[in-house]
Amino acid sequence: MSIRVGIGYDSHRLGPGRPLILGGVTVPFELGLEGHSDGDAIAHALTDALLGAAAMGDIGKLYPDSDLRFKGANSIALLREVVGLLRDRGFVPLQADITVIAERPRLGKFFPEMAAILGGALDLPAGAIGLKAKTNEGMGFIGRGEGIAVMAVATVGPV
Ligand code: MG
Repeated sequence: MSIRVGIGYDSHRLGPGRPLILGGVTVPFELGLEGHSDGDAIAHALTDALLGAAAMGDIGKLYPDSDLRFKGANSIALLREVVGLLRDRGFVPLQADITVIAERPRLGKFFPEMAAILGGALDLPAGAIGLKAKTNEGMGFIGRGEGIAVMAVATVGPV
């Protein structure tokens, strides 16, 4: 079996009264990501990239919004669970690369902690997790600060 690559994308609306949780880290900010789960768009995009690499569907199919069990769910725990499902099918994560598109807040200083947490969920060292942040140059819903989007790619190999 050869190395396979998967892509993931997620976006969430920013709203008041919620913590901003990204890559398992609670980032100090006046708004948080809305969603049925904890809204961790980095964890969700990465989960979809891994599922895509294994051709195992997507996060919405495994953890539907309609299921109350996943209300407020810890997305890092779900990511870890998906890594277990991949392993059952004979795949292990090799590395991942993630781009966060957010006008605010600045995220770079949180990346080492996020990489350690995400790597931990994937049984990989932090150095196997690339993290980058971009603004959207003031354009569109991201530029207006209405939400945050994340793109991720991940490779998997044989167990
Ligand atoms: Mg999501």
